[in-house]
Amino acid sequence: MATSSASTRAPAAGPWVDIDRAALCANYRLARASAPGAEIAAVVKCDGYGLGAAEIARATAAREGCRAFFVAYAHEGRALRAALADRGRAAAIYVFNGPEPDALGLFRDADLTPVLNGARQAALWAGAFPGAPAALHVDTGMNRLGAPMDEVAAVAALEGLRIDLVMSHLACSSTPSSPKNAAQRDLFVDVAGRFPDARRSLAASGGALMDGRYHFDLVRLGVALYGASPFDEDEPRLAPAAALKAPIIQLRRLQAGDTVGYGGTFAAARPTLIATAALGYGDGLPRLASNRAAARVNGQRAAIVGRVSMDLVTLDVTDLDAPPRIGDTAMFFGPGLPIHDLATACETISYELLTGLGGRVDRRYL
Ligand SMILES: *Cc1c(COP(=O)(O)O)cnc(C)c1O
Repeated sequence: MATSSASTRAPAAGPWVDIDRAALCANYRLARASAPGAEIAAVVKCDGYGLGAAEIARATAAREGCRAFFVAYAHEGRALRAALADRGRAAAIYVFNGPEPDALGLFRDADLTPVLNGARQAALWAGAFPGAPAALHVDTGMNRLGAPMDEVAAVAALEGLRIDLVMSHLACSSTPSSPKNAAQRDLFVDVAGRFPDARRSLAASGGALMDGRYHFDLVRLGVALYGASPFDEDEPRLAPAAALKAPIIQLRRLQAGDTVGYGGTFAAARPTLIATAALGYGDGLPRLASNRAAARVNGQRAAIVGRVSMDLVTLDVTDLDAPPRIGDTAMFFGPGLPIHDLATACETISYELLTGLGGRVDRRYL
C-alpha cells in the first residue's frame, strides 16, 4: 500500500482529495487487459478531470509507458508538454477541439497534434503545416463535435493533409446494450476505410470496457483511469483513485426538534450528534447532496443532514460506535464509498463531481 502523505503533514484545516497513483495505474492496466491489442491513451482534459493533468500524465508515462494524451484545448496541451518535458518529446498530445487560426503557433511550438473536426479545420491545418500529422474526428451520430459524414470526402481529398488517426465517439457507451453503439461502430468502420493508412480509435472508457469490437487501435481512457465508472452503474473492477475528504471541525448535540443549517431543513427526531465538516458547495460538494447523500466517518456511514453550505456540511454521527473527535476525517467518496453513489444521489455523474472540485481542495498525491 502507498503510504499517505496525510499522515506526515499537519492536521488539515480544509478539504483535500487523495489521488492514488497506484490506483490510476491499476485502472490503466485494466484497460490494457480489456483491450489488449490497443494503445491506451490517457485523457487528461480539464486538468486531468480535476485531479491534476501534470501529475496524472507523469505517473502514467513513467509507470505504465503511456505515450499518448488527449486534452481539449491547445493551451492545455502546452502546459502538458511542459509537464512532460523531462520525458522528451516522445509523447503525442492530441487536442480534441482542433486548431483555430490564433492557436496554430501553440500547436507548432508545443508539438501538439490536432483532432480535426471538419473540412474547415482540415483545410486550415493542411494549409499551415502541410504533411504534419493530424487526427480526424468523424461524427457517427453523436451530433456534437467532429466532421459530419458529408464532409469526409472533401477532407480525404485535401492536398497536404496527413491523417494518421481516425476517431469517432460513442454517444451511448454508458449503456453497452444500446443499439446505437453497434450502429455507430458500423458507420465508423465504413468511414475509416477511406483512410487506410490511419490508425483507428472509437472507444473512450465505456468502449474500452466493452467487447473487442469497440477497441480498434487506440483507446481514449478518461474517467475510468480515475477510477469512476463510465457506465450507468458502478464498475467495481475499477480502483478508486480519488478520495474526497474533509476534517470535522465542530461537534454539537441537538435535542429533539432542533433543526440544522440554512432553512432548518433537517429537524432532529431524537437527541442527535452533529459533526460539521469543512467542505461545501464552494469546494464541489453539490448542494443537492443536502439530506440525500452520506459520508464515512471512521469507517461508518454518516448521513448528510441539513443543507450543504458554501464551506460546511453537517453529518449525523449519532449512531457511530464511538463519537468522532475534532480533526477526525469525513470521506465523501473514495475506497468503499463509490463516487457513483454520491453522483447518483446528486442527480449527476462522477465526471461532474471530479471536474467540479474547487480550488480550495488540496490535491494530495499518494
Ligand atoms: C472526454 C472524451 C473522452 C474520454 O471519455 P471518458 O468517458 O471519460 O473515458 C474520449 N473521447 C472524447 C472525444 C472525449 O471528449
